[in-house]
Amino acid sequence: MSARILIVDDVAANRIVHQARLSAACYDTVLACDGATCLAIARQDRPDLVLLDLDLPDISGLEVLRTLRRDPQCRDIPVIALTATSAPADRLAAFAAGADEVMDRPANERVLLARLRNLLRLKAEGEFPATDSIALAGLAEAPAVFEPQGTIALVAPFAACADGLRASLAGQVRDRLVVLSRREALADIAAGEGDGTLPDVFILADDGRNPAATLRLLSELKSHQSTRYAAVCVMGPAGEGDEAAMAFDLGADDAVGTSITPEELALRTRGLLRRKRQSDRHRARMQDGLRLAMLDPLTGLYNRRFVGPQLAAAAARARAEGTPFAVMVMDLDRFKQVNDLYGHAAGDQVLVEVARRLTANLRDTDVLARVGGEEFLAILPGSCMMNARRVAERLCQMMDDAPIRLLSGEQLHVTMSIGVAVARGDGGGDMLVDGLVEQADLALLESKGAGRNQVTYRMSA
Ligand code: GH3
Ligand code: MG
Ligand code: MG
Repeated sequence: MSARILIVDDVAANRIVHQARLSAACYDTVLACDGATCLAIARQDRPDLVLLDLDLPDISGLEVLRTLRRDPQCRDIPVIALTATSAPADRLAAFAAGADEVMDRPANERVLLARLRNLLRLKAEGEFPATDSIALAGLAEAPAVFEPQGTIALVAPFAACADGLRASLAGQVRDRLVVLSRREALADIAAGEGDGTLPDVFILADDGRNPAATLRLLSELKSHQSTRYAAVCVMGPAGEGDEAAMAFDLGADDAVGTSITPEELALRTRGLLRRKRQSDRHRARMQDGLRLAMLDPLTGLYNRRFVGPQLAAAAARARAEGTPFAVMVMDLDRFKQVNDLYGHAAGDQVLVEVARRLTANLRDTDVLARVGGEEFLAILPGSCMMNARRVAERLCQMMDDAPIRLLSGEQLHVTMSIGVAVARGDGGGDMLVDGLVEQADLALLESKGAGRNQVTYRMSA
């Protein structure tokens, strides 16, 4: 579904021009000719973005912005404000009222569309989260909350340029400012993730001599694992006109031209840092959710759902590298009796202790999951039959040797039956993962049938 843009302008000709351009770019449009209509439509229709001319006949554009930002229904709708004056104070006032971007009229069409795509992308990625406890109003200053100091990297083609930039930001942001050469910025990329000292924001200053190099650096930063989540602002000639449109499409979070004042740069930088942190938190929440969906709440081991993709990945790796790998299915013996005699809670304690012992006796590279009530599955990458046999015997023995102590103090002798299947690594056996698990299950049944507390092996073709 295409995004819906609310166009607010009191001059009919302007509305029509914007509408034609946005329709040509495949956006749906809604029109408003004054502030009151804008607010009514924003509340009722919840457009994806508002293009707001600040000179309105009824309510001032700034007041419209402030009202939108106060309204829980509308506060996360991105707004691009258009102003007739390029006076720095007017621009700052618009940001303070809650604009996400302020552009002088007439706006360069390509830049406007690129900025619009950029804001819509941020919104789609959840970076305008209405759910955050502090609703953020565009680039307006958020209420003071404690945030650790961030790191802002100033990257310039030559030192004097970066120093000038540092001087204009110093005192306006409370974050660490580091000056980097382009080479050092690239080295940061190469350093990879790790010690957490990577910059949160990169400001790429361009002096107009080689905008292509600035845009190339932007694209490097945005495509590497270690820096892709940092916010990047392109500043200078590469941040205006057609270059700015390109910058946004290459993933820039912001682009500003040569005429930007230190105050506005500082304001935008603080906004970028805030948004970057918001998206870090958002991503962390998503990752937590994903992690929890993969884990068994009782033992903390992976659950059955996680095993399928892991098996497929292990098989693919083994095939590519010509290495063997083993699958081991383990089932506690007569576990029903434990529940029957000692209660379900005691049974749970046994399961937790078994999981702990298995984890302690497997390598970090092995994958261990609880795939059923009292059934576990391990994937042992790179394990040949001899190695898998050694591991399985050790696990079986360790359960038999040491009784499990319940919280009540009682000691239980718990044993385990194991089935092992190994896929040869010579590339000859183009085995299917399902087949391998099936072989391991059959081997487990054999162990049970033969009296339990033992290991049975199958070699897969
Ligand atoms: P076998 O040696 O043939 O494997 O016998 P068994 O008793 O272990 O096997 P069976 O499949 O008959 O019983 C498994 C029992 O595991 C039944 C169920 O009560 C118990 N169980 C399954 N999930 C849980 C759990 O999460 N907690 C507890 N305490 N018990 C569980
Ligand atoms: Mg059992
Ligand atoms: Mg069972």
